[in-house]
Amino acid sequence: MSNHQKKEIILIGAGIMSATLGTFLKKLEPNWHIKLFEKLDRAGEESSNEWNNAGTGHAALCELNYTVENEDGSVDTSQAARINEQFEVSKQFWSYLVKEQEIKSPQEFIRPLPHISFVQGQDNVNFLRKRFEALSGLPMFTDMEFTEDPETLRQWIPLMMEGRTSNTPIAGTKVNSGTDVNFGELTRKLTKNLAQHDNAEVHYQHTVTDINRQADGRWEVQVRNFKDNTLEHHVADFVFIGAGGHAIPLLQKTNIPESKHIGGFPISGAFLVSNNPEVVEQHDAKVYGKEPPGKPPMTVPHLDRRYFGNDSSLLFGPFAAIGPKFLKSGSNLDFAKSIKPNNMLTLLAAGAKNMPLIKYSIEQVLMNKKDRMKELRRFVPDAKDEDWDLLIAGKRIQIIKDTDHSGRGYIQFGTEIVQSEDNTLAALLGESPGASTSVSIMLDVLRRNFPEYFNQWKPKIKEMVPYFGTSLAEDRKLLKEVQQTNSYYLDLEESQ
Ligand SMILES: Cc1cc2nc3c(=O)[nH]c(=O)nc-3n(C[C@H](O)[C@H](O)[C@H](O)COP(=O)(O)OP(=O)(O)OC[C@H]3O[C@@H](n4cnc5c(N)ncnc54)[C@H](O)[C@@H]3O)c2cc1C
Repeated sequence: MSNHQKKEIILIGAGIMSATLGTFLKKLEPNWHIKLFEKLDRAGEESSNEWNNAGTGHAALCELNYTVENEDGSVDTSQAARINEQFEVSKQFWSYLVKEQEIKSPQEFIRPLPHISFVQGQDNVNFLRKRFEALSGLPMFTDMEFTEDPETLRQWIPLMMEGRTSNTPIAGTKVNSGTDVNFGELTRKLTKNLAQHDNAEVHYQHTVTDINRQADGRWEVQVRNFKDNTLEHHVADFVFIGAGGHAIPLLQKTNIPESKHIGGFPISGAFLVSNNPEVVEQHDAKVYGKEPPGKPPMTVPHLDRRYFGNDSSLLFGPFAAIGPKFLKSGSNLDFAKSIKPNNMLTLLAAGAKNMPLIKYSIEQVLMNKKDRMKELRRFVPDAKDEDWDLLIAGKRIQIIKDTDHSGRGYIQFGTEIVQSEDNTLAALLGESPGASTSVSIMLDVLRRNFPEYFNQWKPKIKEMVPYFGTSLAEDRKLLKEVQQTNSYYLDLEESQ
């Protein structure tokens, strides 16, 4: 690969996305020069931080919103299978990095933890049973167990069954091979490793303030160096905007046609957190419920055991909180500044079309601790006020754009890569399923933006992600082998 013409690459933001892309590029083209600029003083401090997200290794083992019920009553499993495969791709890449000793101590960023779905009410029980039947036909979900038996549920989720007196039908599914992922720690490990490479520079306290196309087609990136309060100008052949919530404002600075008619609406996540060891010890799983009818996927309630180094907590949520900032460390002017003549109608149309979402958001903002505890008690009937505190997590910026299929002001849930027509700049927008699928998303960034290199890179990519491009969904034996190899390197064996 070293005979390729040397390129200057700029990565904006030290979250999981830029850290993953930088790691790939260093392996594929060691001679290319990478500069990563991060406004804060260390990596993984915004959405990728362990306290700012739920740390679920999203593999569709428990998230009910990944299996939609069709009008004819059947359950669509295609999204669940895709997300499961994408998480397997992530685990292959992380395993490779551990095997090569590029990152060490995997238990510091990934831990085995059962993934459980829990539903209440006959309709939801019926749905869960149908979902279980549909999924258990697929190789990746064969280990899923289903129960309607309260005694079995008491063994799986004792904290949630204690004090449960109602006769409402309940049911659950369980997969032991789920994970809790500390994406903050993983981001820090990847970024530290990147910084040690020749030809890679990681600059903290450096905020990108402008991005302009030069006459020669390359990009001039303006950076405020807060260490010595100077303004710097750097030139790149390829720019990746991995700035999380701030990606939309930076994309707008580029003025590329693809940056028009897109807006973002900031919604913070909030969780109730318990650090009381007596409570924490009683719940060792991630338990996802069903979102209330007609509510967006981000409203799916879940109760998660979380591991932070040697400490452990329980998180319940997410609740939504609205504020004008695009990053936790952002400015109150972020949202107002993102409104431009080209996206004003887009944003207004989204507001008019999505009244239920707006109503839901307002209701969430008006919630007090008593209301939140009431929600929690649907999961943990005996929850005591004094054991739970409010934690404000990361920002989710809902992408709002005009589309051919849905017209003006369509709200898109999920992640999206926006790129310039000439493949010299790409931005990652959106949050879900997010960090878990960062490896597949960044492979997609590489495929779409470096088409002239991608075929030659394939052998090296296959060294890093051995089953890249192979559908594991169809091959039970191969899938088992891949899972076992990943579990070995990532120290997840007790979960299998
Ligand atoms: C409440 C919540 C729960 C979630 N739960 C999960 C989960 O359970 N599982 C999962 O897989 N995903 C989850 N996600 C999604 C996941 O956190 C994100 O998809 C992922 O962290 C995004 O990574 P990123 O690198 O794009 O952004 P970030 O981690 O936000 O990183 C962006 C970086 O860019 C920097 N930056 C911004 N502007 C500039 C600038 N102008 N100049 C320089 N640097 C800049 C920021 O400081 C930041 O460090 C959740 C998200 C939220 C909000």
